[in-house]
Amino acid sequence: MHVSAIIAAGGRGARLGGDRPKQFLSLGGRPVLQRSVDAFVLSDRIADVVVALPRGLVDQVPDYLRGCAKPVEVVEGGKRRQDSVANAFALVAGRADVVVIHDAARPLVSIDLIRRTVDAAVECGAAIAALPATDTVKRGDASRIIVDTLPRGEIFLAQTPQAFRVGVLHDALALASRSADATDEAALAEQAGYRVRLIDGDQRNLKITDADDLEVAERLIGAPARSHADVTTLRIGNGYDLHRLVAGRRLVLGGVIIPFEKGLDGHSDSDAVCHAVTDAILGGAAAGDIGRHFPDTDAAWKDADSLALLGRAARIVAETGFFVVNVDVVVIAERPKLEPYVDAMRANLARALGVEVDRVSVKGKTNEGVDSTGAGASIAAHAVALVSRS
Ligand code: MG
Repeated sequence: MHVSAIIAAGGRGARLGGDRPKQFLSLGGRPVLQRSVDAFVLSDRIADVVVALPRGLVDQVPDYLRGCAKPVEVVEGGKRRQDSVANAFALVAGRADVVVIHDAARPLVSIDLIRRTVDAAVECGAAIAALPATDTVKRGDASRIIVDTLPRGEIFLAQTPQAFRVGVLHDALALASRSADATDEAALAEQAGYRVRLIDGDQRNLKITDADDLEVAERLIGAPARSHADVTTLRIGNGYDLHRLVAGRRLVLGGVIIPFEKGLDGHSDSDAVCHAVTDAILGGAAAGDIGRHFPDTDAAWKDADSLALLGRAARIVAETGFFVVNVDVVVIAERPKLEPYVDAMRANLARALGVEVDRVSVKGKTNEGVDSTGAGASIAAHAVALVSRS
């Protein structure tokens, strides 16, 4: 099942003041668009992401859209929302089974909501996140006189994500090319005759349209008032690991297979660098440790690819509401010389963590011949990770 995500970021609205469209504004230190894209990159349901940027801005692609852990492509948005989505759909229509569309202006979408919406669309063809109305709903005329009071139990307020099997979205967008402005894709799917299921949305998944919304979103993520320091959202994590060097094993460090006469002994591939980083990011989020999530008593993790486990740990951290700011690792090995492999390790770790490579540092050290590591009987790794509340 190949699921592609389309992030609709084509709006040029700059109602929040300044000349930057709202999706490029910073929310708690990260741009609104980056938060939206990161949620989909981190979702295990999503294979790739296409971002529809405002016309005229595709040659100024922000750095955070490059070097993500999954393929992220950029297309030029159209005049109307449905035109932007159609441009992005043209890229994914040939490879996707299901397409999920999300407004860039909803940066607090949860990985859980993405999963539930996608799974419902897989099952029934089309599904959207929506909230039941809690206020009484009135219909008014042009002079603001109430015409009708609608039965509240039947009213739902649509959010995104909205997910569709590829054939459903194809038919919906075909209708869009001939019809008036649609404010969401579900409306087009309904007009095309499809049944669209309502999934329980999330109050946190608000749409940022004005300065008040931005303030509410900052409160929701626990970001301090902009006049205060950012420290209350930052946490540090520490990780350490050591494995014995033995004959007859491959040496794997930071996901790189290093030619050497010995390898690290253990249950998994015994990649001490990945293990130390995994514990560091889990520690920053106070989300347990590698032994709790991937116990070596469980046969599932025998000879496990520790880089893949690190990717899973990054998702656990994201689900607890944190994202990784940076990671710094010290690897202690008397031999072999690690310097030639450091950049490949950094690239692997960055990919698993879903961050740019310049946020990952790896340094090799020797132990000057002292103790077991210095005697060449083991390799050890220390890591620190800074995480921030997202
Ligand atoms: Mg280990």
